[in-house]
Amino acid sequence: MLTPELIASDNDWAPVRMQFPILDQEVFKKPLAYLDNAATTQMPLRVLDTIRHHYLEQNANVHRATHELSGRSTNAFEAARDTVARYIGSKSSNTIIFTRGTTDSLNMLAQMLERKWGASFSALVSTLEHHSNFVPWQQAARRTGGSFATIPLDAQGDIDLDAYAKLLDELPVGIVSVAHVSNVLGTVNPLAQIIEMAHQRGWLVSVDAAQSIRHERVDVAALDCDFLSFSGHKTLGPTGIGVLHGKEELLNELPPVAFGGEMVDTVRTSGTTFESAPLRFEAGTPNYVGAIGLAAALDYLELLGRDVVAEREHALLDYAEQRLGEIPGLQILGTPQKRAGVLSFSVEGVHPFDIATLMDKMGIAIRAGNQCAQPLLNEVYSLSSVARISPAFYNTFEEIDRAIDALERALSICRPAL
Ligand code: PMP
Repeated sequence: MLTPELIASDNDWAPVRMQFPILDQEVFKKPLAYLDNAATTQMPLRVLDTIRHHYLEQNANVHRATHELSGRSTNAFEAARDTVARYIGSKSSNTIIFTRGTTDSLNMLAQMLERKWGASFSALVSTLEHHSNFVPWQQAARRTGGSFATIPLDAQGDIDLDAYAKLLDELPVGIVSVAHVSNVLGTVNPLAQIIEMAHQRGWLVSVDAAQSIRHERVDVAALDCDFLSFSGHKTLGPTGIGVLHGKEELLNELPPVAFGGEMVDTVRTSGTTFESAPLRFEAGTPNYVGAIGLAAALDYLELLGRDVVAEREHALLDYAEQRLGEIPGLQILGTPQKRAGVLSFSVEGVHPFDIATLMDKMGIAIRAGNQCAQPLLNEVYSLSSVARISPAFYNTFEEIDRAIDALERALSICRPAL
């Protein structure tokens, strides 16, 4: 239960929370507690103001015209690319491709490698991946007749590193694509080790940072990952914008898979040549306002302090874990060595949809479903769905308490005998 320290901590964060007016409302005449941040985060006023300012003062298509407004718009867009590069520790902005989101980034990467490698295509993913980091690789392998395999987990929900080493040795060399943080178990994968093991054997590594970009420090230079993807809407930015980062020399060796304006160098009836990265991969008008909004979100996280944000999110998650642990019959999925961002749970005899629906009526927004990770839920845990709670730094300990009260009430309705 809430201690004076936790209440004081909530009070300290109250000015930050004021940046997120959407949180301050009622649903079903109950105060909202939004605890579905792994699905999407809310945007602070600073981001909304940046987007509004762009449309009000400097909106024009980028990279095209000679007029002043287009110049301002292009400068803001390219400054956003610089911000993203800095944020993830990349030395060059040429490594940053703007996409529609993580799913788009991973599909693009899988298709580019499919074109480059053909029948020798080989992808290795873990069993805990989101469908976005599973199906694109599986499909590319199917189309090329190449290889697709999965790394098993141990009983705790961590990647089995011995099995991983064996697979790297046995399979045709290709690409390993793993989540930094699982959107179901919250497992924080030991990326440095995973990457080093792959590189020692000549494999490339792609990191799905959709869930980690907000909680963990992501430094592509220190990690030495070859590719990294994330979405704006999970890191306080707008929807419809995401990033694919790749080492510049690797990107320039990859064939583009979408064609049109801006990505070309010369176009003749006899043939077309392409720009170098990143423009080579941004066919058509990019979502420049989304990119500018995303950069404002990353700036805001830097302003708050990334470590301070991570510490607050870890504290909220630990508290939620402790409180969930007090509920009889409730199982938290996985006991990974390090967890961030999410807690998924099931309660014997109660359907997760019933839990989430009843909690919703009490003002508490959580997620129920297969969490877009059917291989993990079905094949490892023999479940079809779970409930998931995912706090962000702007949530409060008081909201977690309210969520637990609501959960207990929901369970008393669903299993009155207990
Ligand atoms: N990977 C992970 C780990 C995710 O959690 C998600 C979103 N839930 C995605 C990929 C896909 O992100 P998006 O829907 O923004 O493309």
